[in-house]
Amino acid sequence: MLPYGRQTIDAHDVKAVSESLLSGWLTTGPAVSEFETAVAAHVGAQHAVAVNSATAALHLAMLVANVGPGDRVMTSSNTFLSSANCAAFVGAIPDFVDIDPVSYTLCPRSLEQRWQNDIKAVVAVDYAGQTAEMPEIARVARCGGAVVIEDACHAVGGRFDHAGTEYSIGGHPWADITTFSFHPVKTMTTGEGGMLVTNCEQLAARARRLRSHGIVREREHFVGLDEPSFLAEGSSLGEFGPWYYEMQELGFNYRITDLQCALGLSQLRRLDEFVERRREIVAIYNRAFAEYPHLQTPELRNAADRDLTSWHLYTVQLDFAALGLSRTEFMVQLQSKGIGTQVLYIPVHLQPWYRQTYGYQLGKCPHAEAFYQKALSLPLFPQMKDTDIDHVIRSVCELMETHL
Ligand SMILES: *Cc1c(COP(=O)(O)O)cnc(C)c1O
Repeated sequence: MLPYGRQTIDAHDVKAVSESLLSGWLTTGPAVSEFETAVAAHVGAQHAVAVNSATAALHLAMLVANVGPGDRVMTSSNTFLSSANCAAFVGAIPDFVDIDPVSYTLCPRSLEQRWQNDIKAVVAVDYAGQTAEMPEIARVARCGGAVVIEDACHAVGGRFDHAGTEYSIGGHPWADITTFSFHPVKTMTTGEGGMLVTNCEQLAARARRLRSHGIVREREHFVGLDEPSFLAEGSSLGEFGPWYYEMQELGFNYRITDLQCALGLSQLRRLDEFVERRREIVAIYNRAFAEYPHLQTPELRNAADRDLTSWHLYTVQLDFAALGLSRTEFMVQLQSKGIGTQVLYIPVHLQPWYRQTYGYQLGKCPHAEAFYQKALSLPLFPQMKDTDIDHVIRSVCELMETHL
């Protein structure tokens, strides 16, 4: 069975995790900061904070951006739930912008049209790996005083062109914070895991503190327990010592383990290889499907990104109505040939909780809704053999031809 996505684990990964297991460190140890440093260097960011999921990274992004009750956060409706849920975690209102119909990423024109004064942050999603239109999104967001967060969970290792210059995702000036996911289905994995990268030292330091209960351990940052009320009876409450730590704000346990970071370090060494192979498979698919009028292959907004994009998904738009075949039937037929597919994504604003909580309705994001009706993600992962790719292409084409 070919799933729509799968991790690539080899003997180096096994060795790295085994060595880590015997190193004496299970949770936060040297591999965590080593992994952070390596990812930051790879993407060209100043600071990286590793956490146990990208959902945690997005939550921390909201907290360090001081997003809270009374604020609104705009994101794309064509995304995984976390891009929007993170706003609700902090008591803000998650709200939605429509997608650009070519790249399926957050449309800056839609953002500008829907701008409101209470918007505190914009979460732009690099759908399928294609970068959102970050320079334009940042222009609109910053003009309105909002923080720009790039949910790059699909796009680790990706780069893009802007006005003839190449930028890396995580290392360009149009996002204040970028988040990555290392879930097994994503481009590289730590089992579960995520990361927040930023060029702002203060944001990174605060995210690091909130990752572990809001605890402060550096003496120069202590507030102390030396208020007179504590010291009245000659107590030693005001004394600092090696045991001493302070909780200055409410944080969480979002720590990632050393084991996971050992795997992450090992995976990161092959990230460019993974990205390259994914790009190769996308090119083969695109060539094979180019002639079919009822199948739209993924399109780049900027042709210069062809050799820069880190593809996470291969999502096509299929005109099921014209084929006279429902999507479910199409998927079942492919499944019977050992081909797994997935539908990514159901527009988040149409999820029952969002409709009930915020009153969002069908028609709010017409492009995202239309995209959803035709979306189908085909298998895409580095270990696909050429014969696997062929099998997918032949099966999809056969299905289209027999039903036309
Ligand atoms: C996978 C994903 C997330 C969540 O990642 P986790 O590491 O599973 O929490 C968030 N946003 C997008 C766009 C994703 O694809």
